[in-house]
Amino acid sequence: MDKQRKTIAIEDAHFAPFFNKTLVSIERGEGIYVWDEDGDKYVDFTAGWGVTCLGHAHPVITEALAAQSRKIMQNPNSGITYSPARAKLLSLLMEILPEGLTRVFFSNSGAEANDASIKLARKATGRLDVISTDLSFHGRTISTASATGQAKHRDKFKPLMPNYRFVPFNDLKAVAGALDSEVAAVILEPIQGEGGVNLPAEGYLEAVSALCKRNGSYLIIDEVQTGFCRTGPMFAIDGINVKPDFFTLAKGIAGGFPFGAFAMTEEVSLRLQKGDHGGTYCGNPLGCAVAYAVIKHLLETDIRKNVESVGSLIYENLKGLQQAHPAIIRSVRGKGLLLAMEIEDPQIAVEILEKSLGVGLFVNLTQGNVIRVFPALNIQKEEAEEGLELLKKAVTIVAASRREVYKKTVERKS
Ligand code: PMP
Repeated sequence: MDKQRKTIAIEDAHFAPFFNKTLVSIERGEGIYVWDEDGDKYVDFTAGWGVTCLGHAHPVITEALAAQSRKIMQNPNSGITYSPARAKLLSLLMEILPEGLTRVFFSNSGAEANDASIKLARKATGRLDVISTDLSFHGRTISTASATGQAKHRDKFKPLMPNYRFVPFNDLKAVAGALDSEVAAVILEPIQGEGGVNLPAEGYLEAVSALCKRNGSYLIIDEVQTGFCRTGPMFAIDGINVKPDFFTLAKGIAGGFPFGAFAMTEEVSLRLQKGDHGGTYCGNPLGCAVAYAVIKHLLETDIRKNVESVGSLIYENLKGLQQAHPAIIRSVRGKGLLLAMEIEDPQIAVEILEKSLGVGLFVNLTQGNVIRVFPALNIQKEEAEEGLELLKKAVTIVAASRREVYKKTVERKS
C-alpha cells in the first residue's frame, strides 16, 4: 500500500469529489490483468467500463497510437482539412454500420455523440420533444442527463432541458401513446447498460423503429455500450429490422483512446447545413487511426466467436453461482460479454464487490445491486475461468459471513 498511499492522498485532496473511490491505484495493465502501484495483480472484469475491448496495452492500439502520433495528431484547421486517417476509418465504418447510415461525424465521448444527435434531430425535424426510457443512460452533459431515465442523474440539476419525456423500457404501448407530432426523436439503448443490463423484449426494438417511421420521428439508437461486438454481433441491432436515423458510438470504438462517433442517414444529413455542428477534435487523425486499428482487429480476429463462446461460459458459471446462492443472487442476465448478476440486497452487492477486490478481481456495480461483468472481448477461456474462480470465492465468503450473522441473530433471539 506504500506507493499507492501518496497517489491516493493527492487524488483525495485534488480530484473533484464525484466518485465514490476504490482505494487502489492502478499503474499498468496487460490484457485482462492490471497491476497496482505496489505490484499487486488483479483481473479486470470491467474493461474500464466496457472500453478496453482488446484488453490493456494491446500492441495493435499502442502501435497505431505511436505510428499516427509520429505523422500528425491534429490537422491544420482540424476537420476543415482532409485526412487519410479519417477517410480510412470512414470507409471501414461504411462496411460495418447498419444499412442506410452513410454520414458520420466524430466526438470525444458517448455523451457528445448523443448530445449532437438530439440537437440535430431537433433541427432536422423542426420538432422539440425527445422520448427516452426509464432507467436509460445517455450521458452527463445537461442535454444527455435530461435524456437519462434515472432520477439520481437528473433531479439534482433541475431545471433540466425541457421537452424530454419518459416511457418504461419494453413498453410498446407507452411509446405508441407518447409519439405525437411534437416528437423529434426517440432515444434508445438496444440493451440498457447502466440501467442494469436490461434486455429488450422480443420484437420491441423493431416495433419502436416502425412506430417512429410512421410518426415522422427520428430513432436515435445509442450503441455506446453495446457497439463493437460487446454483445456478439458488431452492433446489437445487427440482423433485426431496426432502422435508426442516428446511431451513436463510443467506448469500444477505439479500445481505450477517448473517441466517439455518430452516424446518420443521407435523408437526415440533407436536412442539415454547414455550421450545424463541429468540435475541435472532431475526427482527429490520432483517434481515427486508433479506431481503425481496433475495428480492423475485431473483424480480422472474428472476435464475435470469442465473445459468444466465452460469454456463454461466463453466463453459465454465473447461473451456477446463482443456483448455489439463490438467497443472494436474484437473477443472471445479459448477452455476449455484457453480463450481470442482480443481487437481492444492495449491501450484499457492495460486500461482494469489496471481497472481489480483496481476492484480486474488479467487477462493476450498477443500480446499487447489479454486478456487471464486461471484460475485454478477446478474453481467453482460461482467463475467464480464473476471474470466475475469484468471483465465486468472493460470493462464497460473503454468503458464509451472512449465514454467520443470521445464525447469531437467531441465537440471540432464542
Ligand atoms: N450512452 C450509453 C449507453 C452509455 O453506457 C454511456 C456511458 N456509460 C454513455 C452514453 C455516455 O458515454 P460517455 O461516458 O463516453 O460520455
